Amino acid sequence: MWQLYRRRPGYGQSLAILTRVAGATSVPGTDSGWEGGYRGMSNQGIREQYDAVIVGGRVIDPANGIDGQLDVAISGGQIVAVEEGIDPTSALQVFDARDQIVTPGLVDLHTHIYWGVTYWGIEPDPVAAKSGVTTWLDVGSSGSYTFPGFRRYIVEPSRVRVFALLNLSSIGLIAPTWELSNLDYCNVDLAESIVNENRDLILGIKARIDRNTTRGTSIRPLELARELADRVGLPLMVHIGSGPPTIDEVAALLRPNDILTHCFSGGDMRILNDDGKVNPQIMALREQGLVLDIGHGTGSFSYAVTEAMLDQGVLPDVISTDIHQTARQGPMYDMPTTLSKFLNLGMSVPDVVERATSNPARAMRREDLGTLSVGAPADIAVFRIEEGEYDFYDVEMSLRRGTTRLVCTMTMVSGEILPETEERPMHSWAKLPEHQRAVLRP
Ligand SMILES: [Zn+2]
Repeated sequence: MWQLYRRRPGYGQSLAILTRVAGATSVPGTDSGWEGGYRGMSNQGIREQYDAVIVGGRVIDPANGIDGQLDVAISGGQIVAVEEGIDPTSALQVFDARDQIVTPGLVDLHTHIYWGVTYWGIEPDPVAAKSGVTTWLDVGSSGSYTFPGFRRYIVEPSRVRVFALLNLSSIGLIAPTWELSNLDYCNVDLAESIVNENRDLILGIKARIDRNTTRGTSIRPLELARELADRVGLPLMVHIGSGPPTIDEVAALLRPNDILTHCFSGGDMRILNDDGKVNPQIMALREQGLVLDIGHGTGSFSYAVTEAMLDQGVLPDVISTDIHQTARQGPMYDMPTTLSKFLNLGMSVPDVVERATSNPARAMRREDLGTLSVGAPADIAVFRIEEGEYDFYDVEMSLRRGTTRLVCTMTMVSGEILPETEERPMHSWAKLPEHQRAVLRP
C-alpha cells in the first residue's frame, strides 16, 4: 500500500513523501517530522532497485542541458538515473515532486561559515536545510594560522560539503575588516605551504580589496595575492567595494580564470563607469574567462547597477549570497531570496539555477558537483515556485516588487535529507546597518 506524508504541516503545499509500508495500517513516527516517517521501515521480501526516487518534478540540470519532467533515482548516495517514468515500486522511498522543480543541490560560491572564530561566520547546516545549498565555498574566513581549525571545527562536523578559499591575510576574517592593513600578515611563503598541505579543501585564494581592508597599504596586498595565486596555480577571488584603490588598479592584476566578487556593487570601485558603460578592462577579461560573481551580502548588491548591466546584456556568471552574520538577517537572507531577485528582474528559472549550480562548480574547478549527472553525489534541492506579491530590497533598501519567488522544500546531501534544525542566534555585535534595520524592523 501507499501512504502519503506531508512535510511541515501548515506550511502550504509542500513536498510529499510516499512510503511503501508492506502490510501497515498505521503510520509510525510521523510526529517526529520528515525523517521519522520512514526511517527504520523496510519492505521485507521486496527487492528494491533504488534507495529513493524523486518523481514527477520539473528537473533542471544545466550542466547536462536538462529541463523537463523527469524522475531521479538515487542509490548508495549517488544519482543513478534521471529518466522519464521510473517505476516508483522499484524504490525504498518515493518523493513526490509534482508541481515543483528539482535541481542539483545549490553551490554557493561566496559564504562565511567559520562560526565562533570570525566576526562573520554562521553555521551552514541549519540554513542549508531550508535553502537547498549543499556546497558551501567559504571565501577567506580562514587564513594560514586559522585554517587547521576550519578543517577540524567546520568542515569535519558539517553535513554539507564545505570548501575554502584561503585568505592572503594569515589571520583571515577574525575582525570585521583591516586584515590587509598590516603587511606582516601577508606571508606568501606560509600561505603557499598551507595551500599545498590542504589541496583537498582549498580551491583558491581570497583577497578583500577596499579602503578599509587595505587601509594605507594600497594595492600592495593584491600584488601579493596575485603572486600567491600564481605560485599555487589556483583562481584568485577579489572583493571590491569602496576605494582606494580603484577598479582599474584591481583590473590590472586580475587574470582570466579569477573571480570578481561583489560584481554588481554600487561602491565607487563598481565595474559600471560614470558614463553608464561597463568597465572595458573588466569586459575584456571576462571574455577570456573572468567570473563575475554577485556576492550580495550586506553592502554589495545594487539594483541600479544590476539593471544597467542587464540592460547591456551583461548577466552575472554566478549568483552567490555572501551569507554571514548580518546578511542572514536581510535584505539578502538566503540563496532562494537572492535567486528570486534575479527571476523578478527577468531571468528565467534555468538561467538562475545555472548560476547557482554548474557555473559556480566550474569556477571552483569541481564540475563533479552542481549536477545531477549519473554517478554524481546525490546532492539535490527541491523548490516550489510561488506566485504572489513580494517585496525585494537591495542593500540600499531600494525596493522592487516581485510576483514570483522560490521556496525550498527539501535539501538532500549524498542521498540523505538534511533535517531542519534551529539556527544559533546572531552574535551581539552583528547589527544590521541602521538604514536596513529601519525598513526591515520598523
Ligand atoms: Zn564575503
